[in-house]
Amino acid sequence: EPLPEDGPEGRGEDIDRALRPQRLDEFIGQAEARANLSIFIASARQRGEAMDHTLFHGPPGLGKTTLAQIVARELGVGFRMTSGPVLARAGDLAAILTNLEARDVLFIDEIHRLNPAVEEVLYPALEDFELDLVIGEGPAARTVRIELQPFTLVGATTRMGLLTTPLRDRFGIPTRLQFYTVDELHEIVSRNARKLGAPAEDAGAREIARRARGTPRIAGRLLRRVVDFAIVEGDGVITRDLADNALSRLGVDHLGLDGADRRYLRLIAESYMGGPVGIETLSAALSESRDALEEVIEPFLLQQGLIQRTPRGRMLAHGAWSHLGLVPPQQTAR
Ligand code: ADP
Repeated sequence: EPLPEDGPEGRGEDIDRALRPQRLDEFIGQAEARANLSIFIASARQRGEAMDHTLFHGPPGLGKTTLAQIVARELGVGFRMTSGPVLARAGDLAAILTNLEARDVLFIDEIHRLNPAVEEVLYPALEDFELDLVIGEGPAARTVRIELQPFTLVGATTRMGLLTTPLRDRFGIPTRLQFYTVDELHEIVSRNARKLGAPAEDAGAREIARRARGTPRIAGRLLRRVVDFAIVEGDGVITRDLADNALSRLGVDHLGLDGADRRYLRLIAESYMGGPVGIETLSAALSESRDALEEVIEPFLLQQGLIQRTPRGRMLAHGAWSHLGLVPPQQTAR
């Protein structure tokens, strides 16, 4: 599975797997989603049927893949995982669908990036558990209908808005994941520190939680880096001072913003007097893709009330100026 931040380290993925919650009651946070899912899972089990198709949407690292795996485990069925960009041709999807066993969970990550031809094949599969495949070409072409086992599609997307309406409408259980509270992240960090065998004082774990951008994946990554500092420069214990020092040296500020976040805010402040400025302009000036800005950087800044989205573009909110240590232009103009 894709873990972009951990890719080059290699080891990251194994540790990640060990830290991933395995059951619904080990999954911290997302209380509403969890409560609803537990009902739908129990109902599907009692009826002996496949659970309804489910869509998880929200920023990266909030637990969409983890929840999909948990759903399969709680249902007691098999789990297959693929992603929108990997399913290049209709045949790729057909091969997966025809190999599913009854009530299995098929997880498609980045489902907003499905090729339209593949999406066409998916509709009847979702609705009637049937595949219509075209065999051959030209006058000899014919359609064959293949019956599928009933299955549950779990889709994940960071961009709900990019899903086509017919695809969105086929999910009976759309679930939006929220940023985590500091308390929830605190619990996740403490638990993971224990699993890593790295003792964390309560205030140390809390400091990491406060600076993790509301995101468990980031909390996990920061924890591992702080553990490195604790081992090499401390006595192995994660104290508040040690965490604060390590995170500051990693460029993570007190709100949890990193260099890319601050570059984004600074650009709007210093080059556009606080905006509004269009997303394409920001993308060009920062050499970041528009997708990266919209999926990774902006959701947390919006949630923190540091920026606003207006019809004319992005604007800095009041809190961003003080966070950057700058004075908004109206005050300097007088
Ligand atoms: P997404 O699919 O939304 O990008 P993942 O499911 O891959 O996110 O989760 C990213 C990381 O965060 C994983 O290492 C996972 O173990 C961890 N994680 C996510 N949600 C939780 C949670 N509620 N409790 C503990 N760890 C979590």
